[in-house]
Formats: sequence, structure tokens, C-alpha cells
Amino acid sequence: MLSRWGPYTNMRMMTSSGPIVIDHAQGVYVWDESGKKYLDAHAGLWLANVGYGRAEIHEAIGKQAEKLSWFSSFGGFANRPSLDLAERLQALFAPENMATVFFSNDGSEAVETALKLSREYWKLMGKPGKTKLIGRQYAYHGVTMGALSVAGITPNRRLFEPLLADARHAPAPYRNHCTFHPGDSQCTMACARELERIIQFEGPDTVAAFIAEPVQAAGGVIFPPADYLAQVRSICQQYDVLFIADEVVTGFGRLGEWSGSRYYHIQPDMMTFAKGITSGYLPLGATAVSAPIFEVFLQNSQDRGPEFRHGNTYSGHPLACAAALANIDLIEKEDLLSRAQEQGRYLNEQLQKLVREFSEDIVDAQCEGLLGRVELHPHEGQAAGIQGEKVSEHMKAQGVIVRPVGDVLTLSPPLIITRQEIDEIIFALHETLAGLK
Ligand code: PLP
Repeated sequence: MLSRWGPYTNMRMMTSSGPIVIDHAQGVYVWDESGKKYLDAHAGLWLANVGYGRAEIHEAIGKQAEKLSWFSSFGGFANRPSLDLAERLQALFAPENMATVFFSNDGSEAVETALKLSREYWKLMGKPGKTKLIGRQYAYHGVTMGALSVAGITPNRRLFEPLLADARHAPAPYRNHCTFHPGDSQCTMACARELERIIQFEGPDTVAAFIAEPVQAAGGVIFPPADYLAQVRSICQQYDVLFIADEVVTGFGRLGEWSGSRYYHIQPDMMTFAKGITSGYLPLGATAVSAPIFEVFLQNSQDRGPEFRHGNTYSGHPLACAAALANIDLIEKEDLLSRAQEQGRYLNEQLQKLVREFSEDIVDAQCEGLLGRVELHPHEGQAAGIQGEKVSEHMKAQGVIVRPVGDVLTLSPPLIITRQEIDEIIFALHETLAGLK
């Protein structure tokens, strides 16, 4: 019997084959205990943005550990790295209109914080009936009950129901699997208008917030039409519904911008971050809120007691915040945003060549910044997802890690990746597709 129960893991299979134990990592590569080398084209889980083994981050963590590894941030205490990081994030996300940051441990908690903030906000505004939370089909927001309630990947939800009764779901802007025009190349953005219909149907006086990943990553790297986010943002504004941008994957350079919101030219009311905020060197979540929202909490403040009765023991952990500061330094110093744009263009060009060569196997491919997708045709009579799994297993055997989501291969390599390393990914995919013919 295996002693460790792995996350999202088939434990029956693990009992016979055992996990691949990753031993060490450097740059874009990881090595398992047997010495096999893999190019990690998924950056861990969409997060090792500055790559592995960065001495600058190890040193920052070590230096902070020698001074102060931990002290509570509750009730008026703080540590310097958490204050410095909050200031840094305030400046970085000023164009998105963010003013104040609340720290937690991961993406799920960052989302949970945003959902709770939005409910309290409307109570403070004298509109206690605004409690409903709208997510989208195919959305991934984490594992906690609130985050799961607004998520839209059905198998992740079903066995944990009932979830929050006040959650609703809008359609995803998924061109290849459009609810409104299946198989049609016409896009009328009916999905955006459907959000408006849902808000009207539920009653705007009952809806607190809408949450959206700028690009739906774990749902299959679903890129929205260019104007979609601006349109749903404006619908939310029109009906007094808070707009939460879940930037857990899209934040910190993945799209060649500091955020997906900036990439798609919107200003949300709140943003959630994790993953790339430390490039995975230590766990950290952050929820940023705009000034008008924070002001409402301050205006309703009493002489005693917290305005927001919420907080994680490790909120603003000094080591995690020190890691995040060093990580942001690296992103800036090495101009990894421009690099993600440039290498992303190259990766996209190479993917389009594969689409042309393997037009019977690939539905389409797209890459924006260094976030990419390759959608495969399921083979005749094959259940959905089998082809994705098969191709990714073959690539893994060749030493390249990609992540299948159904029949979509998702790509999210570290932003430091070189052209030569991109060629390695493309070569493995080419050899796999040619070999499976
Ligand atoms: N939000 C998004 C968009 C995610 O992709 C994820 C995780 O993949 C989460 C939230 C949850 O983050 P965590 O796994 O750190 O709790």
C-alpha cells in the first residue's frame, strides 16, 4: 500500500507502477531518480516561470530564513518582506487599478478570499441580497468548496456536491466547442451576451460577482475572442457585479504581460495570483483589490475588530514573500515578458508547421505568450481524451513533459526557454505524431 495519496492521481495505477520521482531540476529540465532527463514544457504546473535552480531565489530565501523564518501577521503584526511585496504588487498592478493585497497560501485560497470579499462588500454597501457568484463552464479555480462551486469542470465537482447553492455558470468562450454555433466558424459572442441574460434572469440585485480566468488554462487553454473580456467586464459594470480576474496562471508573464487582464485590456475589481508569483519556489497566494473596494471596508470600520474576518495562519509568510520579491526581480532583470512574447511567436510558428503537416491529427494549435494548446482529433471510435493521453505519454517517454486536458495538449514552458529547447518540444511532438500514424 502506498503511503502517499497523490493529488489528482490514479492511486490504483500508482500501486503497480509507482510515481516518477523527480530528484533535481535546472533551467527547463528535471531529472528523475533513475537519471532520466525531461524537458518540462509545462513549467511544473504552469508556474516555474523563471525556471528551476535559480540561485538568486535560493539566496533570498536563505537570507530571510537567517533573520526571520516566521511570525504571525495577525492583529497588527507584519514582516518586512510581506510589506515590501505588497508595495511591489501595488506598483506592478497599478495599470489594472489594484491598490491593496491580501496574502494566502495558494490559488484556491486566493480565490476563496476574493469570493468572500465580494459577498462582504455588498453587505457593507447595504445590498445584502447580492450573494450569487457566477463562474463559467470549463473553469478551474481550485479545490476549496467556494472555488469549486464557481468552477466548471464537471468531473471535479460531481462527487463533492452539493456545493454552494448560490453559484451559477455562464458558457465558456470556447470557439472549437461553441454551445451556440457548434462546428460553425462564425463567432457572434453569444457567450458574452448569455452572461447578461443570466444576470437579468437571476436579478442583478442577487448577484455579487463574476469570476473568470483571462485564458481558461486547466479547461484546455481556452483563448477568448479578442473583445470577449472587455464585453463581459462592461456587462458586470452595467449590473453592479464585481469582476474577479483569476490570474493564477496568467499572472507574472505567462502571456508576455504582467497579467492576462493587461493582455486583454481590462481593469477588474479584484485579481487572484499564485503559482508564477514565486515561480513555485515556495507556496504563496495573493488577492489584489481595487481602491474603491478597499475604501468601502475602511469606511465601515469600527474602532475594534477586523473589517474582514478572514486570514490564513501563514498569510504573508516571510520566506514565501522573499522568494516572490527575488522572482519578480528576475522577471524584470531578464525582461522575461518580452522573452515570452518572442519565444511564444517562435513556438507558435513551429506549431503551425505541425498543424499543416499533420492536418488529419491536429484540429488546431495556438500559442499566446508562452501559453499554448494543440488540440488533437480523437481517432475513429476512440473515447475523448484517449488521444491526448497517448500522445503525452509518448512524448514523456521521449523526455518531454506536456499536460493533456482531454484531447488538448497544453504547453506552458518556463519563460527562460531557448529556441533550441523549443525545437526539442516540437521534435518530440513530430516524432510522436509520425510514429502513431
Ligand atoms: N485558479 C486557477 C486559474 C488555477 O489554474 C489554479 C490551479 O491550477 C487555481 C486557481 C488553484 O490554485 P492552487 O492549486 O494553488 O490552489
